[in-house]
Amino acid sequence: MIQISERVQLLNDKPANNDGKYVLYWMQMFKRAEYNHALNFAVERANERRLPVVVYEGLKYYYPWASDRIHTFILEGVAEKRKAFEKLGIKYVFYLQKDERSPKDTVARIARDAALIVTDDFPCFIIPRHNAAIVRKAEIPVYAVDSNGVVPMSRFEKEEYAAYTIRPKIKKMLGDYLKPFEEVKPLVRAGENLKIDCPDTDVAENGIEKLVAGCAIDHTVKPSFVYRGGTANGRRRLKKFVAEILPDYDAARNRPERDGSSRLSAYLHFGYLSALEIALAVRDADAPAASKEAYLEELIVRRELSYNFTRFNPDYDSLKSLPPWVQETMRRHADDHRAPVYTLDELEAGRTYDELWNAAQREMVVTGEMHNYVRMLWGKNVIGWTRSYEEAFAILEHLNNKYCLDGRNPNSYAGILWCFGKHDRPWMERPVFGTIRYMTSASTGKKFDSKRYIEWTKTLAQGKLF
Ligand SMILES: Cc1cc2nc3c(=O)[nH]c(=O)nc-3n(C[C@H](O)[C@H](O)[C@H](O)COP(=O)(O)OP(=O)(O)OC[C@H]3O[C@@H](n4cnc5c(N)ncnc54)[C@H](O)[C@@H]3O)c2cc1C
Repeated sequence: MIQISERVQLLNDKPANNDGKYVLYWMQMFKRAEYNHALNFAVERANERRLPVVVYEGLKYYYPWASDRIHTFILEGVAEKRKAFEKLGIKYVFYLQKDERSPKDTVARIARDAALIVTDDFPCFIIPRHNAAIVRKAEIPVYAVDSNGVVPMSRFEKEEYAAYTIRPKIKKMLGDYLKPFEEVKPLVRAGENLKIDCPDTDVAENGIEKLVAGCAIDHTVKPSFVYRGGTANGRRRLKKFVAEILPDYDAARNRPERDGSSRLSAYLHFGYLSALEIALAVRDADAPAASKEAYLEELIVRRELSYNFTRFNPDYDSLKSLPPWVQETMRRHADDHRAPVYTLDELEAGRTYDELWNAAQREMVVTGEMHNYVRMLWGKNVIGWTRSYEEAFAILEHLNNKYCLDGRNPNSYAGILWCFGKHDRPWMERPVFGTIRYMTSASTGKKFDSKRYIEWTKTLAQGKLF
């Protein structure tokens, strides 16, 4: 692997196919036609070779936690991309692999006629494995491009310890990156007769339910009635956020009973919106400086700390990635008595004695998201209610990634592990938690109108948000 520029890595040393008919961009996580460094890189390489670009996006049925919710959110973004790419003269192929009888190995098949492959560099979940697999199969160069955050991940040389270590570094570099994005336009349009060796699924707005029903996935996790996939829907929310919510963000973001945060994390996770586009919109907004700063702290410092963590720590999805002080305190408190103890089924059904916790669980199950403030409490409580730290982590990872549209993301792992002390510091010693920061529903619930929040989550099943 060679880092050839701040955002681009060459993953192998194969020669380009000079008879290639196109440059292939395998779009995995940055599901957008603008503000996309990977797409730009593919277009530049194609322009150099006077070739058209083919964008391939696949959706398989067997990724972990595949469900109606996640599939629907992805399919809702397909039609707008087809339109955008058609306008640009880029060939877009979307393939929905429904079950084990469906054609396989599509990327390798499309790659046979490509000069080279460009794909997304996303530091977590199934993407690093996908990229390793295509490197094994491809006989042409494979480039992975980082379009995750405002500052490229390669600007950090190692795993950062906490927000206070990454923050000054980001602040120093931000001026270089918080700039309008320059889109590169393709010089050669993909012709009508360009044949691609892969099925192309027709995804019409009104056919999504049927397509999803035909896939061998978990049909019990229903599509979100709050979040609709796609860049246009993400931009609609961004516009509303900047105009109506951002001015009061600093005060309202820790009020789960209000619509006081951006609710953009699902759009960020699936790459429908780029962090840069959001950051520029917030920077240029007519809003108090304190709110803008508070928002950019979350969007850039906290989020990029998570990406740094999963990029540099191979154990990001286990307790092994926790710092020595946490390992030590967990060793000392592993055998502490826990009561009550709940099973995964009880937790999943939101059947605990704690009404606030049950409400947070309900919000996640119904809407596909849980508010940040209760998410911290949600994670902390599970540590106290399970037989071991390992079991608590496994349950949190499973529930977060199964129900949350923004799950399976670096923020998922950094967020869950934060509940165990990651990116935090030791606090006062107590049973079970040792020196890991402790939170109770009783004290957290006093910091906002928890009664209203609990009642609000009960109305969610009627399909109304606020
Ligand atoms: C137990 C636990 C699990 C979590 N799981 C996820 C997850 O699966 N996916 C996810 O994106 N976030 C996760 N977070 C972080 C945070 O809760 C969400 O990013 C936030 O709730 C998203 O809502 P929002 O878009 O309205 O945030 P806003 O307050 O509007 O913030 C703007 C953006 O900044 C980023 N951000 C906000 N808070 C954090 C944070 N603490 N750490 C890193 N980035 C942050 C997000 O990208 C967010 O969209 C988790 C936190 C905890 C404690």
